[in-house]
Amino acid sequence: MKIIAIGRNYKEHAKELNNPVPKEPMFFMKPETALIRNNKPFFYPDFSKNVHYEAEIVVKICRLGKNIETRFAHRYYDELALGIDFTARDLQSECKKKGKPWEIAKAFDGSAPISKFVGKSQFANVQNINFSLDVNNKPVQAGNTGDMIFSVDQLISYISKFVTLKIGDLLFTGTPAGVGAVSIGDRLVGKIENEVFLDFLVK
Ligand code: MG
Repeated sequence: MKIIAIGRNYKEHAKELNNPVPKEPMFFMKPETALIRNNKPFFYPDFSKNVHYEAEIVVKICRLGKNIETRFAHRYYDELALGIDFTARDLQSECKKKGKPWEIAKAFDGSAPISKFVGKSQFANVQNINFSLDVNNKPVQAGNTGDMIFSVDQLISYISKFVTLKIGDLLFTGTPAGVGAVSIGDRLVGKIENEVFLDFLVK
């Protein structure tokens, strides 16, 4: 399986990092070794001094697909979760400056904690889901999928022009504003519609 993650899919987040609002989706990948499941701790990597959390809704692909039309894209995912796209912001800034790829900043081991998955049918509208992240009991991010620049269906259509989507692939759909640094000892609690989905420590 592969993990595809979207950059800059919420206007307010693009602005907070001084990035232009994109005209088409931007994606990058993380390897399977980035995943952390079952609320296991995130171990702070020694190669960064500025690791940021980015809380994101994650969708799981349930059908093989290539060149998927937007209007059919809803058939290609059936479950949702909450994930953190951990980012070594200091390394990413260097990569951006030098025009290098982002892998060392985005794809490192443990950079993608994910929660349990729930059926998307639990939600009346996939593009109207509230989600949030608290760090040490303090609210830091609160988003609604209605504020995505590109909808989940548009993302699936766009990505599948370039990359075949396979059953079990995961799509991180972008983070709202409020990203920030984590420190060893922090406790991250992520919710979808006020239900706790993620609850883990930084060690
Ligand atoms: Mg992200």
